[in-house]
Amino acid sequence: MELKNGAFTVQGIDLTKIAKQFGTPLYVYDADKIVDQLQALKNAFSNQNLKVKYAAKALTNLSILKLMKKHGAGVDVVSVQEAELAMKAGFEPNEILFTPNCVSFAEIVEAVDIGLMINIDNISILEQFGHKYHNKVPCCIRLNPHIMAGGNHKISTGHVDSKFGISIYQLPHLLRVVKTNGIKVTGLHMHTGSDILDADVFLKIAEILFGVARDFPDLEFIDFGSGFKVGYKEGDITTNVYDVGVKLGKAFDAFCESYGRKLEMWFEPGKYLVSEAGVFLVQANVVKTTPATVFVGVDSGLNHLLRPMMYDAYHEIVNISNTKGTQRVYTVVGYICETDTFGWDRKMHEVKEGDILMMKNAGAYGFSMASNYNSRYRPAEVLVYNGKAQLIRERETMEDILRHQVEIDI
Ligand SMILES: *Cc1c(COP(=O)(O)O)cnc(C)c1O
Repeated sequence: MELKNGAFTVQGIDLTKIAKQFGTPLYVYDADKIVDQLQALKNAFSNQNLKVKYAAKALTNLSILKLMKKHGAGVDVVSVQEAELAMKAGFEPNEILFTPNCVSFAEIVEAVDIGLMINIDNISILEQFGHKYHNKVPCCIRLNPHIMAGGNHKISTGHVDSKFGISIYQLPHLLRVVKTNGIKVTGLHMHTGSDILDADVFLKIAEILFGVARDFPDLEFIDFGSGFKVGYKEGDITTNVYDVGVKLGKAFDAFCESYGRKLEMWFEPGKYLVSEAGVFLVQANVVKTTPATVFVGVDSGLNHLLRPMMYDAYHEIVNISNTKGTQRVYTVVGYICETDTFGWDRKMHEVKEGDILMMKNAGAYGFSMASNYNSRYRPAEVLVYNGKAQLIRERETMEDILRHQVEIDI
């Protein structure tokens, strides 16, 4: 997103023109930015056998998955359906890591039949897996190191009361289950949340993993999860991936040497790859002055971008129809019959009804968390690829709202 001669552009194309062409509400993604982020990771870990497994749940559109595939990423999925989408986009089953949580053993069996690498996150499923497959099917084990990542409780998955992973305090039990059933563990995994911030926290987590890894002789990779923080507002601290590359790389090399062989280093970023590449465009429907504030009501709501309401996430909001002149303070709200506030007290260039507002950092967990609440259509998606804005998902219609409803005689 670049401000050029008073217009916000993606690859030289004016975003207000894109909004006019495809209508609002609209998600717009910049393919170049996604490729740049992927490249930055590859550069940061250029000394390693690096595998980037894109966390598909962040943004699951087929064209985005194809872009990831084309540029050498693998994929991390959390459901068999996501795996099916990834395969439709061209991924081979062996490029896909399946990291589910609390799914049935039947879904694990389905994933094994497809040929996915399974990441197991509880002892009960591991036991069933061992009984059925012994050492015939390798697996990865998801550990919980109990490290709090960042300050936001809702997006931390490593603390003691988290439902994710097998606790490192259960290591003796875990090892017993692995030994008794002869399970072949080829990977260890940790994902402790989205806000790890810096190299030192990565290192702390890594040291825990390395300590555990010595008990698993068949390892081929260690997966450090995600945790790369992207900036949502000006001045936000972001993860310096080069710093992580240097420090974690050094520690990893030392570990591999003592382990006896060079392992692959895996990551599974979602946000880092797609968040900043996406914007969400909405139209200002109503400007409403109340005794408390001036509301801007837009043609969207928590049905399309849930993060501000669910996580108190901050998304910068910019009036792209008016990029000069007086700035005023507004509260931007949705049209859903709930309190769906996108942002309180936001300074924007004067907003008129009909103006297009841009919410930034909307590439990750935007569309993929969208719903039909209030019987609203989910938005369209556009990818700017090779200098052209192309529709990659049509806006829904009444047919989509009615699909699967069964009317009975009443
Ligand atoms: C969601 C998820 C990720 C991606 O997290 P980001 O914060 O988007 O980078 C990675 N790994 C697992 C297992 C996940 O569930």
